Amino acid sequence: MKVIYPGTFDPFSLGHLDIACRGARIYEQVIVAVSESSNKSPMFSFVDRINMATAAVENEEKIIVKGFSGLMVDFMAENNILHVLRGIRGMVDFDYEFQMAQANRTMFPGFEPIFLMPGPKYAALSSTFVREIIRLGGNPSRFLPEQVSKYICERRTGG
Ligand code: ADP
Repeated sequence: MKVIYPGTFDPFSLGHLDIACRGARIYEQVIVAVSESSNKSPMFSFVDRINMATAAVENEEKIIVKGFSGLMVDFMAENNILHVLRGIRGMVDFDYEFQMAQANRTMFPGFEPIFLMPGPKYAALSSTFVREIIRLGGNPSRFLPEQVSKYICERRTGG
């Protein structure tokens, strides 16, 4: 069975990788679905976010990356997938996810949310935090897969 792991991935962090890898131990394939999320005005472009996620999972056989625009449930229907993987760091995530899942279930019968918790090292990590470090000129590499750090570094130096 396949599962999608949707998100903005702005940028793809070690917390995201942790959840995707946990999903890959349960499912035959995990599709990391990078949302265009233009309403969120991401720091990184849609293409950059897809490239970073793709680079981050290059050694993971069961994980692939796709980009999508519009409704997640439409993307799920197109790909014939019912299960959605989401990471839960604590009660704040849970509250939000619970509401979203209820709404998605109403729109897409058969929709099944799968919630996984990250390893303890990643429970307090968010892309918001990573973006703040980048904005302030710091080095976020300890929170990012090596390939993502490299990608951002090359972007910064214009490489
Ligand atoms: P969205 O904009 O959909 O919230 P994100 O890219 O911020 O997208 O997150 C995608 C998913 O990954 C969400 O389910 C989020 O809760 C989860 N996630 C983000 N960071 C972590 C982390 N450090 N540990 C576990 N799950 C995480």
